[in-house]
Amino acid sequence: MAQAVVQEASAATEQRLKTMRHSAAHVMAEAVLQLFPDAKLGIGPAIQDGFYYDFQLPRSLVPDDLEEIEKRMRALATQNAPFERRELAAAEAIQLFQQREQPFKVELIRDLTSGAAEGARDEAADSPDAEGIKGDRVWLYKQGAFEDLCGGPHVGRSGEIGAFKLQRIAGAYWRGDEKRPQLQRIYGTAWPTQAELDDYLNRQEEARRRDHRRLGTDLGLFLISDQVGAGLPIWGEHGALLRQIVEDFWKAEHRTAGYQYVYSPHIGLIGLWETSGHLSFYRENMYSPIEVDEQKFMLKPMNCPFHLQVFKRRVRSYRELPLRFNELGQVYRYEPGGTLHGLLRVRGFTQDDSHIFCRPDQLDAEVNGVLDLGLKLWRTLGFHEYQIELSVRDPNNLEKYMGEDERWVQSEAVLQRALEAHNLPFRRAEGEAVFYGPKIDIHLVDALGRKWQCSTIQVDFNMPERFDLTYIGEDGIQHRPYMVHRALLGSLERFFGVLIEHYAGAFPVWLAPVQAIVLPIADRHNAYATQVHDQLAGAGVRADLDVRSERVNAKIRDAQLQKIPYMLVVGDREAEAGAAAVRLRSGENLGAIPIGDIVARIASETESRSTELKP
Ligand SMILES: [Zn+2]
Ligand SMILES: [Zn+2]
Repeated sequence: MAQAVVQEASAATEQRLKTMRHSAAHVMAEAVLQLFPDAKLGIGPAIQDGFYYDFQLPRSLVPDDLEEIEKRMRALATQNAPFERRELAAAEAIQLFQQREQPFKVELIRDLTSGAAEGARDEAADSPDAEGIKGDRVWLYKQGAFEDLCGGPHVGRSGEIGAFKLQRIAGAYWRGDEKRPQLQRIYGTAWPTQAELDDYLNRQEEARRRDHRRLGTDLGLFLISDQVGAGLPIWGEHGALLRQIVEDFWKAEHRTAGYQYVYSPHIGLIGLWETSGHLSFYRENMYSPIEVDEQKFMLKPMNCPFHLQVFKRRVRSYRELPLRFNELGQVYRYEPGGTLHGLLRVRGFTQDDSHIFCRPDQLDAEVNGVLDLGLKLWRTLGFHEYQIELSVRDPNNLEKYMGEDERWVQSEAVLQRALEAHNLPFRRAEGEAVFYGPKIDIHLVDALGRKWQCSTIQVDFNMPERFDLTYIGEDGIQHRPYMVHRALLGSLERFFGVLIEHYAGAFPVWLAPVQAIVLPIADRHNAYATQVHDQLAGAGVRADLDVRSERVNAKIRDAQLQKIPYMLVVGDREAEAGAAAVRLRSGENLGAIPIGDIVARIASETESRSTELKP
């Protein structure tokens, strides 16, 4: 109950922020028109943390322009003009925007009132302008000398747009169509108070500092090569090691939880994807067929159809269930070039996939088991806060879902009970279930409070039908098993992008690709340093050695930039004592410690998988 109240309150806050930010976009458009009276206006919605507005302008904007526009916005905010609405017939509004030489607005009203362009409404659905059209009437909002086509809502007066900052300029095609004119988009952010704005800007700065693409290069974690192609990351030495450590942990935990690992090929006959349904509802994410001996194969966008084959390998009895197949399966999905982003959005990635086949009476235990395992993985990897949605049917539109009503009712209840049993707060999203089953989506919250959708637990009534999955029940007749798809980390590539930023590249000792580096003070200490290195490596510590003829301070600085947890400095005294002077990544000096004790300390931190940020 209390949870529902909190959620409503946060939804109301969200709505107020959105209204404020969208109103700021109006004020920005007003300021731009003052500077460029010939500007043609596109649309100006609120977005996550801010707003934008698209303009066609006589020249390209430069950063100084943003300052000037901001200054004018401040002046307009000081005037504190009220936002006022009026309603016009569409024909009148078209005439008005024609007079004002605003062709994009004219086009919007024409398309949306005539319904001429099927899809135009969808396309503009994110834009508040679309809501400014009510049948053949349209709404206009005016503040000061500026009037815009808009459905609102807005703040009361232009002085209520909070503390704002214009941040960047980007190109954007009118209506996202590259055959239409390219407009200039100005992005801004707005917050209720200056303190909140400052806080947001600091967080953004911190996010830039942690950008996994930069750290990926600096720390030798991964690379994306023009020669290979966009969206196809290659794991470099250190990244591959980090990944192996996590994969080993993942596989061991799955084995303990009763999963059976399987391997499946990267391509499968086109007929497989017809049967699975992917060719009808997932085609636009799949690549063109590969022809071999007059047969067509498709690169796999998902692993499910292969795991189904393992189930179907022979007749299954109720006694064998549940069956849990897991695989770190490489999949390929089409993503438009412009949306590719480091490891976060790629075209080839590895899903930490699993499919569970069970009887109806086992679903409760299975979903609970998935959450147990998920929590173990997320917490151990350093994520302790989650944002969760439970997507269920739209109760007013039950006919659009496939599968027996009874199974839906049971599955929704099971998912909800499991979340409650684990004390995980969630939002119940009615109508957000996919047509073939209810699901839980879990976002991991990172060190900067950002939320990343990584995990999904999806009940599926579709594929068992399509592949005609059955097991022989206790009654000797065939029954349809329940099927659950689940990914706990999601795409490994994306998860590692998040992990790198979460730790800013300073991984806890158990994850650090290089746990310790030995730094001889002078060349004459190289022999002892090598001996120390070998002792560490022999004991299973991931150790490195820096025998370059550099000053030791330079070596320390480099090791610190590499975010290596332990730096072991060795000179005459250390060699004599069989020790090393230990310096931590944090800059703290622990003094001379015998090598055996250093090994024990690192081993214990690795063993316990401590995620303490300071070693
Ligand atoms: Zn508006
Ligand atoms: Zn699946």
